[in-house]
Amino acid sequence: VRPANCPPDVEQLGNATWTFLHTTAAYYPDKPSMAHRVNMLSLLRALPILYPCSVCATHLGETMETRPPDVSSRTALSRWLCEQHNEVNERLGKDKFDCAIEKLDERWKDGPADGSCD
Ligand code: FAD
Repeated sequence: VRPANCPPDVEQLGNATWTFLHTTAAYYPDKPSMAHRVNMLSLLRALPILYPCSVCATHLGETMETRPPDVSSRTALSRWLCEQHNEVNERLGKDKFDCAIEKLDERWKDGPADGSCD
């Protein structure tokens, strides 16, 4: 087992980055201001340039060109991000996630109805 204080590998970096991105999308406003939209677009557009896994960054840049980010609302952004993540999941042979907003909110914002994450 790799000690916890090692630099992140591709998996750890990816997991932490998805956690940040999905959680940020889950708390994005339903009616974002222009400042929200501009800053979210900047954040997402920076990833293909700055993300420190060059293979991941290149793929992300390609998929973002064919499917540009939708920052028009919390639901639209959460779904767009889910689909981006599913594209990576598919490429890596992982299960796809159900991109319904109820499922995304349960995973990233509210937790399951049984209260097990409260
Ligand atoms: P992750 O895929 O990190 O997912 C974390 C959690 O998110 C899951 O446990 C699940 O509960 C939830 N989840 C899963 N899918 C979705 C979804 N669609 N929507 C919402 N929630 C979801 N790795 C590579 O080897 N090659 C690559 O090209 C590559 N590209 C990447 C590009 C980006 C932008 C990022 C952020 C990561 C990339 N990664 C890549 C890393 C890869 O996606 C995983 O993060 C890594 O393999 C660790 O996987 P994991 O099993 O911890 O779950």
